[in-house]
Amino acid sequence: MTARLQEVALDLDEGPARPSTSGCRQEDFAGFARGNIALIRRGTCPFQSKVEHAQAAGAAGVIIMNQGTEGQTGAFTGTLRTPAAVPVLGVTTEVGSKLAVAGREANGIEIRLRIDAEAGTRSTHNVTAERGKTDGSLVVVGAHLDSVSEGPGMNDNASGSAAVLEAALRLAGEPATDVPIRFAFWGAEERGLLGSRHHLDTLSEEERRRIVLYINLDMVGSPNFGRFIQLTQETNNAFVASTVGFLTDYFRENNLPVEERIGSPRGFSSDNASFATKGIPTVSLFTGAGGTKDAAHAQRFGGTAGQPFDPCYHKACDTEQNVDRQVLEQITDALTSALRRLTPLPH
Ligand SMILES: [Zn+2]
Repeated sequence: MTARLQEVALDLDEGPARPSTSGCRQEDFAGFARGNIALIRRGTCPFQSKVEHAQAAGAAGVIIMNQGTEGQTGAFTGTLRTPAAVPVLGVTTEVGSKLAVAGREANGIEIRLRIDAEAGTRSTHNVTAERGKTDGSLVVVGAHLDSVSEGPGMNDNASGSAAVLEAALRLAGEPATDVPIRFAFWGAEERGLLGSRHHLDTLSEEERRRIVLYINLDMVGSPNFGRFIQLTQETNNAFVASTVGFLTDYFRENNLPVEERIGSPRGFSSDNASFATKGIPTVSLFTGAGGTKDAAHAQRFGGTAGQPFDPCYHKACDTEQNVDRQVLEQITDALTSALRRLTPLPH
């Protein structure tokens, strides 16, 4: 399509970009001319809201530029709950800024927007395997099998899948622990946690209540790694505390620095969120994603400060070479040793 470009509450100033609320409110589109292409900035509210507001204002197309804040400058893919009736395109901060500047300088510009997209329904699968008793408290250990379309996803998340599979294979040769374990490989995490959500939504209430803990492995071979044990929230749950203790025991016994933290780091959520929203405690093993490693973390874990934990996060370069096999092995060993020691809650 060819149409005039109109920016929507971009709030672009000199200096570092601040978080954006562009297009989050219908009022942002006051004065928007029907038939124009809306230029919106990513941030604060879901893409769905921005696009719905743009459509309600009569936008013929939508360009969403990346926010421009740390880690949010490149081209990106977003998710819309329901397909938009108009073309929607995500672009880099640089492209968006250039368009905005050109529009301001020329007092309005006409642009040509061409999108080559394919829409349709696809199937995906979860794979689960269980060992131990078929009743009583259950621990689920999971990793997602899919990757983003931008790259092969070897650290995100072949690494986590490999760790879970390896732990299952090691335990398979040993007598069952008192606490049954379900090993799960999730489909379509990158599309909105679809596999893990489906799993929980299709369990009976009774089956769901059996799950006392979910352990998530998503990105456990990051090249500029940290070692993190993450809890969804503060908890005084004795079973969770003992499991975290088993994990930290392993790292301590092997003189490997580890950091325990509460809550998901900014912008990173994985299948653990599907469990947490059902009120199930979660523990995640994680070696870092696209966030920058600070000096304190470089001192603790080694590696390079000022660089991302995984510079290839969601990129084409997330290949086999992007996986640190040593830290992957350590995380796998920690997981296996903790699973071996799981003990039932006292009644
Ligand atoms: Zn992932």
